[in-house]
Formats: sequence, structure tokens, C-alpha cells
Amino acid sequence: MVDLTLKERLKRTLNGKKVDKAPVLAVTQTGTKELMNLTKYYWPDANWNPKALAELAISAHREIGFEAVRIPYCLTVLLEALGCEIEKGDTTRQAAIRGHPYNSRKPMPIGEFTEDILSKGRIPIMLEAIKIIRDKVGEDIPIIAGSEGPVTIASGLVEVTTLMRWFIREKEALGDYLRFGTDAMIEYANALFDSGADVFAVLDPVASPELINPRDFNDMIMPIYKDISNKLKGDSILHICGDITTILPSLRESGFIGLSIEERTDMKEAKDILGDKLKLIGNISSANTLLNGTYNEVYAECITALEKGTDILAPGCGLAPLTPIKSCIAMIDARNNYYK
Ligand SMILES: [Zn+2]
Repeated sequence: MVDLTLKERLKRTLNGKKVDKAPVLAVTQTGTKELMNLTKYYWPDANWNPKALAELAISAHREIGFEAVRIPYCLTVLLEALGCEIEKGDTTRQAAIRGHPYNSRKPMPIGEFTEDILSKGRIPIMLEAIKIIRDKVGEDIPIIAGSEGPVTIASGLVEVTTLMRWFIREKEALGDYLRFGTDAMIEYANALFDSGADVFAVLDPVASPELINPRDFNDMIMPIYKDISNKLKGDSILHICGDITTILPSLRESGFIGLSIEERTDMKEAKDILGDKLKLIGNISSANTLLNGTYNEVYAECITALEKGTDILAPGCGLAPLTPIKSCIAMIDARNNYYK
């Protein structure tokens, strides 16, 4: 096989074409303290400055060898643009949501999404960062951009326990909020594609069966996922945290081309259920092995994930900020040796 560029390998993998080996990269956040020290671009400022954002993201490609550049470092960009109050965090804490603009016992009417979202909050910074990354890494390195998914957006707008109650008692309002966030997300995602992103990752931790029962997931969330995958103009993947085995049969029909899973979802079981319908991405433990394990432990977990059929070797979720670079390099080494 002729040598593929990193972008070609990723695109071919996601689109079910033959490749020489699985890409190794992250579709979740990649900012770590060591990378901040190397680049001198630190959180929280790196979340608010396009050049810093770009340089720290590129360092996960240059210093570790991840075969993509991925932004941003938090799940707050879209929610901030939609009016949530943000806790900026520091070098070891991600930016997080602090205030929920629509948190009330009885749902406030939210109406249709009509805002000029692309000029709000940090969205212009993200669009600019993608252009800077492309300029610095050239055409052959893929850029992955992510954002909060619809359930996570709704949970940010109203607060998560309120949202859980709405799943039981306020289904109509819940539907309006999910729709509102979905429309905002689609507009943002398509602007990211226009700016040069190659892959868009919908990150929807709150959609996990650990929080939402699979019946509600099928009734209320699946139609939204189908709509999203249909309206996004580029290659789109989904990430849901936790053990998502029970919703895998539904996700087969979601329309996304890739699914990023954590280690709590078994790779082999996921492969058996999804077949080649969605490419699997994961699932090296970010919270345990990558953060606290030895090089050899990470290496062994990577070989197992590859044997169980992962299509893209990746951390199961966002990297913890104190993750050692050496642990991530074990992922690259394991992938390289697996295909020798
Ligand atoms: Zn996750």
C-alpha cells in the first residue's frame, strides 16, 4: 500500500476503506501539565487565546506523536456562548460550567434557537485556532474539533439533576431544550468544518446509560443524533462516557461514522454489536492506566484494545492533566509494534 498521510489514514479508517494500520490519536482533550511546561502555554489562558490554544494542541502531535491535532480542552465553549457562567480552572483543572442560565423548577420557555452563535463567547477563538493549526501543521495532519453534545448542552443550560427530573415529568420542555442545543451545535460544528476541521466529535457524557435510561435514550435522544449526523457537513463521531453497552444496538443506527468508548465498555463486545457500521475509537483508560499506570501497563492495554478490534487506538476519555507524556508514547509504540 502506498504511504498514506495521517489525514488519509484517519479518513480512510473512518470511512471503512483499507488502511495499513490503525491511527493512534485522541478525539478527547489532550492538554497536560507536561505539554504546558514544554510549550509555555498554560491553562486557563490557553482556552482564551487562539495562538496558545493552537500551540498546546499541536504539541500533543509533536511531542507525543498523536496522529491528529485536537481542540479544545474543555466542554464549555458552546455552553459559554449559550450563556452559562464558566469556572476558568487552572493548569490541572479544566474549565467547567458554574452557572446555569435556565435552572428553575418549572421549565422556562426557551423558544427557537435564533442567536448569532458564531460571534459569541470563545467560538471565534476556536475558529481562529483551527486556521492557525492548519497553517502550522500543513494539509496532511488531521484536525479534530469537539463540542458538547445535545444532552450535555441541555444539562448545562438547566443543571443536571433538574434535567434528570425533566426526563420524567417535563418531556415537552426537555424536547425544546434538546432541540435548542442541537440547532446551536450543528451551526457551530459546520463552522468548524468550514474553518478547516477534518473530523467533528460530539461529546455527550450526560447521555450515558449511567444517567439516562436506555428507553428514554431511544425515544428522545436517538432521533436527535440521527438529525445531527444527517446535518453535519463532514466526518462526525460520537463519544459517550461510561459503560454504554446497553445502547450500542441503537447507536448502530445513529448515522455517526465513529464511536469513541471508554474502557468500561468492552471493545470486543462493542465490535460484535456494531460490526463495521461505526468505527470504534478507544479505549485506553485515561483515569487509571494513562494517568497512574506504568509504560508497560499502558502498552499491554493498547495491544489488548487492538486485538479486540479497535479501529483507532485512543484514550478512552479526555486525558487527565497530570498524565505523563511517556504513558502516551507507550500508545504510539504499542501500535507501531503491533503492525510490525
Ligand atoms: Zn468520556
